[in-house]
Amino acid sequence: MDTENGEEVFQGIAASPGISYGQIFLIKQIEIEVPSYQIDLSRKDEEVQRFEQVLLTTRQQITKIQQEIATNLSEDEARIFDAHLLVLEDQVLIEESIREMEKTGLNIEAAFYAVGQRYITAFDQIDDEYLRERASDIRDVVRRVVHNFAGRNQENIIQLLEERILVSHDISPSDSATIDHSKILGIVTDLGSKTSHAVIVARSMKIPAVVGLRDATSRLQSGDWVLIDGYEGLVIVRPSEDTLNLYGKLELEHKSFEKKLLTGAQLPSETQDGKKIKLLANIESADEAMAAQETGADGVGLFRTEFLFLGASGFPDEDEQFLAYKRVAEIFKSQPVIIRTLDLGGDKSSANLTYFPEQESNPFLGFRAIRFCLKHTDVFKSQLRAVLRASVFGNIKVMYPMISGPEELIHANALLDEAKEELRERGETFDEEMSVGSMIEIPSAAVIGDLLAKECDFFSIGTNDLIQYLIAIDRLNDRIAHLYEPTHLGVLRTIKSIIDTGHAHKIQVGVCGEMAGDPILVPLLIGLGADELSVSPSGIPAVKYLIQNMKFSETVKLAESALACHDAKGIYAQAKDFYEQHMGNANS
Ligand code: PEP
Ligand code: MG
Repeated sequence: MDTENGEEVFQGIAASPGISYGQIFLIKQIEIEVPSYQIDLSRKDEEVQRFEQVLLTTRQQITKIQQEIATNLSEDEARIFDAHLLVLEDQVLIEESIREMEKTGLNIEAAFYAVGQRYITAFDQIDDEYLRERASDIRDVVRRVVHNFAGRNQENIIQLLEERILVSHDISPSDSATIDHSKILGIVTDLGSKTSHAVIVARSMKIPAVVGLRDATSRLQSGDWVLIDGYEGLVIVRPSEDTLNLYGKLELEHKSFEKKLLTGAQLPSETQDGKKIKLLANIESADEAMAAQETGADGVGLFRTEFLFLGASGFPDEDEQFLAYKRVAEIFKSQPVIIRTLDLGGDKSSANLTYFPEQESNPFLGFRAIRFCLKHTDVFKSQLRAVLRASVFGNIKVMYPMISGPEELIHANALLDEAKEELRERGETFDEEMSVGSMIEIPSAAVIGDLLAKECDFFSIGTNDLIQYLIAIDRLNDRIAHLYEPTHLGVLRTIKSIIDTGHAHKIQVGVCGEMAGDPILVPLLIGLGADELSVSPSGIPAVKYLIQNMKFSETVKLAESALACHDAKGIYAQAKDFYEQHMGNANS
């Protein structure tokens, strides 16, 4: 978009927060020239040998980079290269390349390159952000292998002499690993998403990033001055004096706000009149656990385990899952870690998982989560055994998603007992008293909470799904997004009833949907009686600050007044007023 003052503004995805201003360093895609010639097929064994040698060299290079990164950055970032090693060892890719050579009579690097390109195109077209990202891994490995065939090492392709904003079509993990990060002011890419590897690294290094701009590389030139706003996902080319002044002020405000929020991060999450509210983190991978702890989380309230499944080509085995759960348990030690069993389906796209049933016409109401697990007991029990085995390394609890009534809960618990028995037979130890929770995210479960409370140790309200099912609003449909109102009186009454039922049966009730991470709605949830809130790690400082700066008695009054009001907008306005009164001093 052009503006009157000569600025150009591009909107992308806000991937890593922060503001930066500087000159661009545009990375042109380095086209690789792949030698292509016919070979005498009687020499094909020599070609295969050459291939094996290059794969070995590539493996050694990647392992070396991985070790360097583990030493200089962290084990988590080094793990990014595990995906590269997997591509290198992919027998299907290797065998297909050899078959391609036999079929076409072309030299092995040309055959390998052709097969690699087919993989990249296939992954690029997948309608799943995570799997699409795997195309970058393959592209990176193919590029490295082809360079090695030519005897060229492709280390340090990007050499920055001055501080610059990097603009690139995509930034591969190898690139981001070999660039001198101290020289990077910001990152802008055509491709990418919040889960891109380069973005993961940028976030952990606090480098502002805007991704998914589609054509930034064709519209920007090396040397252009740009301002990037990683909070809103904006790239402003040739910003005017006014814009620079405005952003200068905004940056100071953001910094002082964030600093203020962090002042109480390691202090207890407790209101001024002494009510303790456990503040837990929602995580999707073991890697996120450490960051969650640094922001002051009291544990994990929701470990969405789907990531282990969405990234895999088959169901991950028990050991693989056990290691992930154990890692998180060890980070949080005696603090609780609630592991939610598999919730594939619905918004957790399963269309690309060949081992998952085909797409349904109404996936949100379909064969998902506990419904799938109670049919595929082998998959479910292997997850339960992994959770149980990890329970000796910390304070693990298990929780089932999408429970609609007591039969499912009783059935799931029976399978948990079987999993325990199987471990006993194997001589493995686990926490015999591990707590079991039920998510309350289906209206029927909310209505018969009294029956569910008898079969479990805690409730966790999943407001994301609960609201969509209560008001009949598809949570992904932006045309009706304005009707998705957490302050709808029907929602608030339902939440209150779930909490009251839980408390009447002496069990704790937490909230783990996005509502719990919205500081405007947090006082309402606390006033309604929620014992715990589980929110995304980046949301923890603001929620904790708010809790520390308000009184529980005031939130009870707010909730009472909300329950007496019948329009959602009016309730929201009351909640917003409350927020502004109590958060005001953080903004000043
Ligand atoms: C929810 O539904 O509120 C919830 C926390 O689960 P998910 O968003 O993973 O469905
Ligand atoms: Mg849910």
